[in-house]
Amino acid sequence: MQSVWLSDALAAETETKITPLDGDLKVDVAIVGGGYTGLWAAIELKNRDPSLDVAIIERDICGAGGSGANAGFALPMWLQLPLLEKMSDTSEALRIGHASLQAIEDIKAISRDHEIDTQINSANTLWVATCEKQSGHWDKMMALMESHQIHTYRFLDHDQLADATGSHSLYGGVIDTASVLLHPGHLVRGLRKAALSKGVRIFEKTEMTKLGRTSPPTVTTPQGVVTAKKVVLGLYGWSLSIPELRHSAMVMFTDAAMTAPMPEKLEEIGFRDAPGITDSKTFIEACRPTADGRVMWTKSGGRLPYGDNLDACTKSHYRTDDEFRDVMAGFHPSLRDAEIQGRWSGPIDRTMSGLPIFGRLPTCRDIVFGYGYSGSGVVPSRLGSHILASLVQDLDDEWTRCPLVSPLSRSFPGEPFRWVGGQIVKTAIARKDRFDHEGREVGPITNFWLKFKPPSYKPS
Ligand SMILES: Cc1cc2nc3c(=O)[nH]c(=O)nc-3n(C[C@H](O)[C@H](O)[C@H](O)COP(=O)(O)OP(=O)(O)OC[C@H]3O[C@@H](n4cnc5c(N)ncnc54)[C@H](O)[C@@H]3O)c2cc1C
Repeated sequence: MQSVWLSDALAAETETKITPLDGDLKVDVAIVGGGYTGLWAAIELKNRDPSLDVAIIERDICGAGGSGANAGFALPMWLQLPLLEKMSDTSEALRIGHASLQAIEDIKAISRDHEIDTQINSANTLWVATCEKQSGHWDKMMALMESHQIHTYRFLDHDQLADATGSHSLYGGVIDTASVLLHPGHLVRGLRKAALSKGVRIFEKTEMTKLGRTSPPTVTTPQGVVTAKKVVLGLYGWSLSIPELRHSAMVMFTDAAMTAPMPEKLEEIGFRDAPGITDSKTFIEACRPTADGRVMWTKSGGRLPYGDNLDACTKSHYRTDDEFRDVMAGFHPSLRDAEIQGRWSGPIDRTMSGLPIFGRLPTCRDIVFGYGYSGSGVVPSRLGSHILASLVQDLDDEWTRCPLVSPLSRSFPGEPFRWVGGQIVKTAIARKDRFDHEGREVGPITNFWLKFKPPSYKPS
């Protein structure tokens, strides 16, 4: 189930040469995973030291994971401020927030410098209420932002939202004027192009089948063994296949769909240049227009993988077309009957802190990792590349000391408890979201299980 974004980006490439590994290899840095995390890390390492020999090992093609499948909401990390403050202090949390703004500028800059068609325009993103009960979810967050002199969030009432989106179904919301929308497929394939131009070697269709926690570490693939001074793991949800990383995150799938192009229709209903919209459910739903006049939307709370078997979750569709149409109609009733062009789903890797984790593998300090984006990885993966590069270079600096470099935890149990517990919490969340829409209160049992849901980057 390739995303429409990735198909778009591949179709626009004049030549796509896939080079699998062919024999053993010795490099300075081997990066496993060709998504935003791996590609940005490679680019940052080459920027710092062009003489480094860097190779990326990707089991499919670059962009086949979350990076080619997401909704393209590039969000600054201000909403994670309270989570970051918990991990460190206010000044460090604010520093990360500012660094995330710079990360958005970096995406714009690399798009310019390497002619990547990321399609960033002036559209921002909105957090909205799609029912009365969701209204005001953001009040505390808005007060916090004001107290820190962050003035990029602005409240919009029903009429202002109707002006911005053409939809009269939204009760109120907050616009994030520092965020942007982009084309995720072009971004990931463009980062691949940028990395190649800097001399990074990319081996696609090359799966890591074994990680040697030796000195130096090794990455075994069916085509050969890569020996590297340092290994970077940018495996996203597939990090669950690494025993040391398994207990610090859980994975749940998010489903996505895209309509066929209909620019005239979007013009007519006032959605052509609308911001991206996310509702205030716990299992968030989101939708956005694309540069070529389609609408993409997502619904979280999809399949839960058993153990690290993520691939089983993509074999068939979890949600029906009608469920997707309901999501669309919730945002914009006139889009209910739009033609669906493509559907796919992808993993979201959640940590108990709601923040990504970077660090060194406790069993081998020459292997570093970054994962656990908890639903927002477009911007944090660029920020994380500074951390990964500093870890690879054994530096003791602002990046290796930052709160995102945190010890691994045992927050999530092993199977079968993880899957069973996950299903119970998932059911409780879906029930709460449904009851909110029906104006009802959930009972004490549901409230009990809701305590186990990992936090998120939403304003509530
Ligand atoms: C439907 C959906 C919507 C989303 N929307 C947004 C959004 O709007 N904004 C936002 O900020 N974030 C969003 N996200 C999250 C975002 O996509 C991710 O946080 C981000 O892509 C993570 O990048 P990554 O490079 O770590 O992971 P990936 O892009 O998944 O890269 C990991 C790579 O590792 C490879 N791999 C796995 N195992 C192996 C192995 N054994 N050997 C070699 N390679 C291997 C995979 O094939 C994959 O290409 C969304 C995610 C989904 C699924």
